[in-house]
Amino acid sequence: MQVATTIEEIRQCVSQARAAGRKVGLVPTMGALHVGHVSLMEAAAARCECVVVSLFVNPTQFGPNEDFDNYPKPFEADVAICERHGVEAVFAPSAAEMYPRENLTWVNVERITEPLCGRSRPIHFRGVTTVCTKLFNIVRPDVAVFGQKDAQQAIVIRRMAADLNMPLEIVVSPTVRESDGLAVSSRNRYLDPQQRRDATALYRSLETCRESIRRGATNVAEIRGQMLDILHAVPGLEVEYVSFVDGESLADLERIQGRVLIAVAARLGPARLIDNILVDTTTL
Ligand code: AMP
Repeated sequence: MQVATTIEEIRQCVSQARAAGRKVGLVPTMGALHVGHVSLMEAAAARCECVVVSLFVNPTQFGPNEDFDNYPKPFEADVAICERHGVEAVFAPSAAEMYPRENLTWVNVERITEPLCGRSRPIHFRGVTTVCTKLFNIVRPDVAVFGQKDAQQAIVIRRMAADLNMPLEIVVSPTVRESDGLAVSSRNRYLDPQQRRDATALYRSLETCRESIRRGATNVAEIRGQMLDILHAVPGLEVEYVSFVDGESLADLERIQGRVLIAVAARLGPARLIDNILVDTTTL
């Protein structure tokens, strides 16, 4: 496995694979790899002979009071995980390699970046879409794999690739969970043992929601009320949003109908946690 830290190195490595007629799959990550990331590597490997994982904590997607400086960077462990899972190349550039000069060019997806996480993280998605565009231009993958865990990110990236005719396929892979339902996340390591137990409230609220919809509930205000009861029962958990939106336009819904994204964000001690489910009433 090659570990490339420069754009030139990774381009060379990928161009060899491409010249040999192999499909290239990219898994963009910020490192601190876990089983959720591994599932994306596997999804890429199922579609492509050459899997590239990028490890880059992208400064432009963090706001001034966010966890950029404290974001975990277990580089050796990350490289070992990639190696164990058949990754062909890791791309781990420095910030200076990715942003060698003041960045004046941004990719901005309108409207669908405004609700949900966009409300509390106003520059976040601009950073994500810009860095993903750069990674796509550097690696030129046939396929890029993202996680359903970051549902809004996946929707935004899909829309960006479609609107800008980017020549690649965007694959969205299911959320990997701990045995108690908590969505696996690099940020879970910020939680102390009590907070870690309490963090399952997000998943429990989403499962209650799914069950209510299965039983025929359609009134969003009512279902949201049930979810908030579960979330507010956890001392110290601050709900940022519980949103019911259309799974493509992210428009707010008052009734459950069609493909609905139900997304939750909350602060718990030092961590900001997000989780979501997609419900499709046409296949219930
Ligand atoms: P991150 O390193 O947190 O930026 O995440 C990199 C990619 O992994 C993103 O596409 C995430 O959506 C995805 N991801 C993170 N956690 C999970 C999970 N628990 N299950 C599936 N994908 C995940």
